[in-house]
Order: sequence, then C-alpha cells, then structure tokens
Amino acid sequence: MSDSAASAAAALLDRIQAPEGAGRDIPDAATREVIGRAPVAAVEDLDDAIARAKAAQPAWEALGHEKRSAVLLAAADAIDANAEGLAYLLSREQGKPLNGPNARFELGACSAWLRTNATTVLEPQVLVDDETLHAELVYKAAGVVGAIGPWNWPLMISIWQIGPSLRMGNTVVAKPSEYTPLSVLAMIAVMNEVLPPDVLIGVSGDREVGARLASHPDIDKIMFTGSTATGRRIIESSAGNLARLTLELGGNDAGIVLPGTDPSVIAEDLFWGAFINTGQTCAAMKRLYVHDSVYDEVVDALAAIAASVPMGNGLDENNVLGPLQNRAQFDIVSRLVDDAKARGARVVTGGESAPELGELFYRPTIVADIDNDAALVQEEQFGPALPVIRYSDVDEAFDWANGLDVGLGASVWSSDPEAARDAAGRMQSGTVYGSTRTADCTRWCRSAG
Ligand code: NAD
Repeated sequence: MSDSAASAAAALLDRIQAPEGAGRDIPDAATREVIGRAPVAAVEDLDDAIARAKAAQPAWEALGHEKRSAVLLAAADAIDANAEGLAYLLSREQGKPLNGPNARFELGACSAWLRTNATTVLEPQVLVDDETLHAELVYKAAGVVGAIGPWNWPLMISIWQIGPSLRMGNTVVAKPSEYTPLSVLAMIAVMNEVLPPDVLIGVSGDREVGARLASHPDIDKIMFTGSTATGRRIIESSAGNLARLTLELGGNDAGIVLPGTDPSVIAEDLFWGAFINTGQTCAAMKRLYVHDSVYDEVVDALAAIAASVPMGNGLDENNVLGPLQNRAQFDIVSRLVDDAKARGARVVTGGESAPELGELFYRPTIVADIDNDAALVQEEQFGPALPVIRYSDVDEAFDWANGLDVGLGASVWSSDPEAARDAAGRMQSGTVYGSTRTADCTRWCRSAG
C-alpha cells in the first residue's frame, strides 16, 4: 500500500462525502475508525434525482450505440486511472484486503465488465424471415433504471447493474448499501468525469430510499442484488409501478466432492471457493458434502489452508482475508458456529473470533462431523465458516444439496470429467461449476440451468 493510494482515496472522499456535521459516519471495517461521512438522502432528494435521470434519458439513448460505447470505454479508463485510490477506499470501507482476490481484483473486474458491456454487439436479430413474415428482435432502452446494491462486492455488483443499463441507453439512479456507500459514490464520481450530466446518479440513503426507488412511478426497471427477504419486499414495492425486475438474491451454495477425487489437488480451489472475500460472497460455497472415502483427507487439507492463510487489516499487503463487514453479519456467523458446537460438531480449526485483529474478525473456520440439519448448513452464514458434511450414499448427497429452496450456484468436484458432468446435471441450481482438476490437468466447466 502506498501513500499515494491513501492520498488518492482522500481526494475521492472529499468529492463525495457529506459536509462536516451532516450525513452518517462510515467506519473502517477493520479498525472501526471513522473514515468519512456518507450523505443521507431524503425521499425528496431521490425524487429529484429520478426526475433528472428521466430528463437526461432521451438524449442519452439518441446518442446511439457507437457513441455510447465510446463514452463507456472512457468511463472504464477513468476507473482504471483511479483504481488504486478506489481500491484503498473499498478496502477500508468493506474490509477486503487490497491483495488477493479482493479490492484490486474487484476494481479490475469493474473496468473489464464495463468494457465488455461497451463492446457487446447489439445488432437486431432476425427471428423469422419467410414468404409470410419478417420479424426482428431489436434492443431498446427501458427508461430509468433503479440499481440497488449490497455491501459485499459493492463496486463490482453496482457495475454489473449500471454497465448494461447505460449500454442500452437507460439512465441510472444507483442506491448503494448503507454499509458501503463511499466507495460506490466515489466510483460513480469517477465515471461522471466522462458521462453526460444526470445519466448516472448515485443516491445514498437508508432502506426507505431503497423502497421508494423500487416503487417510484418514473422507474422503469429495478436491478437489485441483496438478501432474499429484501427481494420479496421489492417485488411488493414494484406492484404499483410494474417496473421490470432483475433480482439476484441470497444463496446457500452446495459443493459435492465425489468418490475417487484426489483431495490434495482440489483443496486450494475448494478453500477459495468458500472463503473468497472472507466468505461474504453470494455464490461462495457455503456447505460442502464429501464422500466418506476422502472425507478425512479433505477436511485436514482444508483446515491446514484455513489455519495458514493470513487474515488482518486489508491495507497490509500480506493479508488476503479480512473482517466481517458489519456487526450484524459477525453475529450471524458466531451464532451459527456456536450452535454447531453445541450440537456436537467438530471445529477442526477456528471457531472463534480473533479479537487481537479487531472487533469484527472471525477466524477461518472448518466444521466437520456436522449433521445436514444443523443451522450452519441450512442457513446462509455469509462468512468464514464452512461446514463439511460426510456422506456415503451419493443419492443422499444430491438430496441434501438440492434440499433447500435456494439455487443460486453449486459445484461438483471430481477427478473424472464424465462423472462431474453427470453430477452437474443433477444439481438444481442456476449455475453449476465443475472442477475436474487432476494432478496434471485443470478443467473447469460451467452449466446454466
Ligand atoms: P440487503 O437485502 O440487506 O440489502 C441490499 C440493498 O437493499 C441495500 O442497498 C439496502 O439498503 C436495500 N434495501 C433494504 N431494504 C429495502 C427495501 N425494502 N426496498 C428496497 N431496497 C432495500 O442485503 P445485504 O445484507 O446488503 O447483502 C447480503 C445478501 O445479499 C446475502 O444474502 C447475499 O447472499 C446476497 N447477495 C446476493 C448476490 C447475488 O448476486 N445473488 C450478490 C451479493 C449478495
């Protein structure tokens, strides 16, 4: 971490934070020191933002695909030019380290995604062309998009919402999570160096502002990423405006390690599949089913990695795991692990907070010999604690994996590509990741269902 990143972050903060004495203090997730003041918009401020976005939309759409692409490519360049300052701010506010698959990685993903959106070809598609009919599918803007984001990957998920919306000619009003508003507002300020006025407006506020955004009569589409409970409320809120909805909600992704898999070659991928962003990732592996024949080896290999991966303040380049982002999430993880212990599950490593690192740090935790009906398995922990469940009957493992009413992602692990492909087909999930890594070959497949 360099001094220049710290000064770049301070300069970004100056551009977006509330005046002294106003707004809400935002803590550093690792040290709990106040790092800045987030503006807290009133519902009237949101109404004003939506009116401005609505007024700006026709001209933005009329610019045409080619010119919009050029502007979005320039916005991606602006993110890259400010990446170190943004990553520094993100690391402090969210807690994820600069290093590893964390803050710098997230900034790289933002500009890459925006470039992908900018260069996606949107030619009309001919659907039918015969003697009686010519039908084309054409791409048109919806109008004003409301983008509501979570706190775990706040920049990347915001860009997933903002990028395609702007590309199509929509204008966007983005409401970041109240836990991580500063880094999102800073990225929006950077993008606004090149975007026309009012095409992208960030409004930070509480849940009431989110609810108003979802129900506002001038909002044409809502893109939401967050918890299932809030997703349900957004469906209710949007009953009035009939806005189109894209909802990315919570998950509790299952992984299955099939018999005959070599634990030593998959252990590291398994670990990061579960612990990326210190477990605070929607599509992280949150429960792992391992066949009896390789169970002990997999548990031991995971525990050895978990016990050795450096955790701590994200500004220290040595660290690759950080704190839980907020107290509520820390309490969920602690409660679920305590419940598992009380039920007699075996904590192989971790299983407790790490107060010497800071208030919200929880040691990377592997819990073995745990029943499938334990709360740590059935509920989304969204933190650094992985339950590893033993199975001997493959059919039962699939029943358990498919037994919850969530299906965001899933993974299968095998040294045999055919077995992995068959297993992927049995997982009831939107996306299935399959690892068929062997000692001398890595193959990843992915299927959407
Ligand atoms: P959350 O649902 O508490 O909050 C998300 C956003 O919704 C915040 O900006 C919040 O202010 C806003 N909000 C709250 N109430 C609202 C309402 N009534 N109307 C409109 N907006 C409202 O979620 P979170 O705690 O920030 O994120 C964690 C959850 O998100 C986890 O369950 C995780 O699995 C899920 N998540 C899913 C994905 C995905 O792609 N599926 C990605 C990241 C996180």
